Amino acid sequence: MVFLVGLKLKTEALRILKEYYGYDNFREGQEKIIDAILQKRNVLGIMTTGAGKSICYQVPALVFNGLTIVISPLISLMKDQVDSLKLIGIDASYLNSTLTSDEYNKILFKIKKGQTKLLYISPERLENKAFLNFIKTIKIAMVVVDEAHCVSQWGENFRKSYLKIADFIRYIADGVKIQTLAFTATATPKIKVDIIEKLKIDNPFVFVDNFNRDNIYFKVIDNTGLDKDLNIDSKPFIIDYLRKHKGKSGIIYCSTRKNVDDIYNYLVSFDRSVTKYHGGMSKEEREKNQKLFLDDDVEIMVATNAFGMGINKSNIRYVIHANIPADLESYYQEAGRAGRDGGKSEAILIYNEKDRDIQRFLMEKESEGRKDEDYLNKKLKNFSKMIEYAELKTCYREFILKYFGEKMIRNYCGFCENCKKEKNIKDFSLEAKKIISAVGRTKESLGISTLSNMLMGKADTKMLNKRLDKISTFGIMREDKQEWIESFINYMISEKYLIQSAGSFPVLKLGKNYKEILNDNIKIIRKENEKIDFDYYENALFKELNSLRKEISKKENIAPYIIFSDMTLIEMAEKKPTNRWEMLKIKGIGNQKFTNYGERFLERINAYNMEEKK
Ligand code: ADP
Ligand code: ZN
Repeated sequence: MVFLVGLKLKTEALRILKEYYGYDNFREGQEKIIDAILQKRNVLGIMTTGAGKSICYQVPALVFNGLTIVISPLISLMKDQVDSLKLIGIDASYLNSTLTSDEYNKILFKIKKGQTKLLYISPERLENKAFLNFIKTIKIAMVVVDEAHCVSQWGENFRKSYLKIADFIRYIADGVKIQTLAFTATATPKIKVDIIEKLKIDNPFVFVDNFNRDNIYFKVIDNTGLDKDLNIDSKPFIIDYLRKHKGKSGIIYCSTRKNVDDIYNYLVSFDRSVTKYHGGMSKEEREKNQKLFLDDDVEIMVATNAFGMGINKSNIRYVIHANIPADLESYYQEAGRAGRDGGKSEAILIYNEKDRDIQRFLMEKESEGRKDEDYLNKKLKNFSKMIEYAELKTCYREFILKYFGEKMIRNYCGFCENCKKEKNIKDFSLEAKKIISAVGRTKESLGISTLSNMLMGKADTKMLNKRLDKISTFGIMREDKQEWIESFINYMISEKYLIQSAGSFPVLKLGKNYKEILNDNIKIIRKENEKIDFDYYENALFKELNSLRKEISKKENIAPYIIFSDMTLIEMAEKKPTNRWEMLKIKGIGNQKFTNYGERFLERINAYNMEEKK
């Protein structure tokens, strides 16, 4: 019985995902979290930027009766979320100090009538008596705490008002259980425990997502000269890079305000589309520049680490650090602002010994006169890890993940500068063995796509009907990409390790030397070229669609990436849908978005197709 109810809710969740968000499946982590939520469990979700945590609570909020309250620390984040939800036809609102009392009352009215499904508030709102009295009269489905690490004093962004949340939940619960969800991207064990304790979350399902950002290409440019006292300059590299990446959004981080001004002026002198942000500028100027960047009005943001907190812009294609940061935490966080939309992006650190020495000097100066003797030591210790990264000769990704306590299956990722340089030639024997055993275990009965689906562990109806999920090779290549598996199988066919049968339903059979491969007598060594394709930005149709998105953004005063992500535009440019039905198959286009924008984009695509035919 419980099972059936669960299944019904799950089906409803998938329907909502498709209808509103335009996606066919939940991602692996999302699915686990949503299953737990639908079973009414409390949840602590630790997910990196871009993993898709908003959907984790928004979809269940639509499945459940009642209002879901989301506590969020920044006005800009709330606005982004509410704008995005409204665009896909979901009734959501936020309460904060920017509203007039008229607007405020309208929102309360809609909540009362049960029209609003999601309400975003700042933690400070919990101290407001009138709000507390009001909310007590409303049926609450869940309370979601976003950026939950703000409750912990161990973290960087401690917010005192987060400590009120536990009391608030008890207050509205009035003895019954109120389902509580907390999300953060900060994973240190200390903070994790602290979140559960301070928010008093009862027996939560804790999910820690994989910290890898596999769409980010990591790279270090060592520009240490022969004489390190020469004034080493990152500018030639930067200008050259920007020339090659025109049309894309990116951030250049500098360690000081002076460096920001310096690089900014330099780029202006080259007439580049650039703006800047640092603590020495007025609030108005900072906000203005930030908006220019978010709205795709300028391409490049040069900034100190003061820039970035609460930035949801999803189409940042590169993050360059012109100076070495103080530790890997900061580096990964800042570099991680690239590619939230899942598109290929680059994280580049420009390193030289002079910068390194300056950083050390600044740390020493900063610690002068401090009581805690350990302070400098700790800083230097963290910094030494950062230097190790900058001078690394092996996989950058592996190093980062290890630092954050995660293991990688292999010691290369194939998608970072060192992997490209050093390990262009790789040992793929393990992969070959997995594929050979899968072909053997399924008695040579499957074609390429079913076999690769099985290796990926996709439990679709075909899998279940054929009971392939019961076979031991089911899901053993989950870590790899499906396209990669398929191309590797094709490679094995071309080398005759596998044979593809003839006929209209070709199946894979074992070929030559498969026993030797299984026994490690033959190694499969192969050269692999990984190419980062940014080419879409040169694609004429993509450009058309991008400029249409821009027009709409200006007219409706919504950031472009909220209208459609770059990934959605790219898929549109690739598949060139010609009608509603085809358009709705594109990822990121649900019913409401189609109603709002679909026809306009179809028109552009059709016009483009006509031009092509001429
Ligand atoms: P986070 O808040 O964890 O940083 P977001 O919720 O902003 O991440 O999601 C990041 C991006 O991934 C968004 O563009 C979102 O639309 C997309 N996304 C989320 N879930 C899915 C899914 N199941 N399938 C495809 N894209 C998704
Ligand atoms: Zn690598």
